[in-house]
Amino acid sequence: MIIRNVRILGGEPVDIRVADGAIAEIGPGLAGENTVDGAGAIALPGLVDLHTHLREPGREDAETVQTGTQSAARGGYTAVHAMANTSPVADTAGVVEQVWRLGREFAHCDVHPVGAVTVGLEGRQLAELGAMADSAARVRVFSDDGRCVDDAVLMRRALEYVKAFDGVVAQHAQEPRLTAGAQMNEGVVSGRLGLTGWPAVAEEAIIARDCLLAAHVGSRLHVCHVSTAGSVEIIRWAKSKGWNVTAEVTPHHLLLTDDLVEESPVGAYNPIYKVNPPLRTRADVEALRAALADGTIDIVATDHAPHPVEDKETEWSAAAMGMVGLETALSVVQEAMVETGLLDWAGLAQRMSVVPARIGRLAGQGQPIEVGAPANITLYDPSARTKVDPSAFASKSRNTPYEGMTLPGRVVATFLRGRPTVLEGKLV
Ligand SMILES: [Zn+2]
Repeated sequence: MIIRNVRILGGEPVDIRVADGAIAEIGPGLAGENTVDGAGAIALPGLVDLHTHLREPGREDAETVQTGTQSAARGGYTAVHAMANTSPVADTAGVVEQVWRLGREFAHCDVHPVGAVTVGLEGRQLAELGAMADSAARVRVFSDDGRCVDDAVLMRRALEYVKAFDGVVAQHAQEPRLTAGAQMNEGVVSGRLGLTGWPAVAEEAIIARDCLLAAHVGSRLHVCHVSTAGSVEIIRWAKSKGWNVTAEVTPHHLLLTDDLVEESPVGAYNPIYKVNPPLRTRADVEALRAALADGTIDIVATDHAPHPVEDKETEWSAAAMGMVGLETALSVVQEAMVETGLLDWAGLAQRMSVVPARIGRLAGQGQPIEVGAPANITLYDPSARTKVDPSAFASKSRNTPYEGMTLPGRVVATFLRGRPTVLEGKLV
């Protein structure tokens, strides 16, 4: 098969020949039958998400491995890491192998299960990290995401333990006592609305502690969904020491602010904006963008968090926290980072494909588009303008904060080891 007329990372138009799932040849005017017209689209290495909630097993009403990975493919992803806060929790070799098998059977992209750090995400006893690492799922990323591993001794043990198999602990940094009952960012807006605030220090204190612990035991720490300017400063300091710390930011924290809780196109107190960690201030957004541009924050991760309508369309205090994100991530990052001149397409490919694959220790993903690499390719038209219509999502859930917004760009096609999962914007 030949993919014609694409611009690798925005470069000059070329053709790409794919054979046996790999890139066989790159150049202008390649001869051959069975072609796909790229129509001048930008070719990116297939995107890799380090932080996706697929909800299966247990909440198949919100998402399944099948629908979540269809959503991923439509967003240009060829691999996702499936978070462990399922029911049952992915805290044993048995459960991670179940998710991994579902991925092999039904998925439209590669599925790499994340293992829980503690049994039942309860923060009391370390889960079977070694057994999950040795399982067929070959788990390398461990996280209690949704909850914070707040016990410093358990966090230390987890960091020590994963060193044996080059794993990484991905921390959801949220000091639980400082955020008891918290509903939104603690600041001017929460004060006006009378909602319990979620102080930046609750995130920053855990990140500082964990950086120190990771340095102390010489292990790898990954910080999930960084949301404050102060967190950026701490991570910048830890990196300046040469410590093995990586960090992610979500698309929504690069674009949206806590003002939306008070005033938005969909009214005040709309739980569509309720998310953990919460939307912060304009100053935080600016700091996160700068940090992603200068490499202090390594990657973009979606924190795709599907919820059924009944869990989201309720009063603010009762609503579930989270937003779907896979199908809008690339457009939001284009809006926040590329349109603003902070990143070019090569920089975006590093942060949404190459580096997330490296942090997750994925061998066949996140490789540059060159001869010999697996043909994991996303074709993207950055000149398109699309009004976000959640009813067109492949995800089972509709909880997007971008409904009705016009965002730049459109995923034209996604190829997983040469096999199209999306063509002309539609699932294959
Ligand atoms: Zn989280």
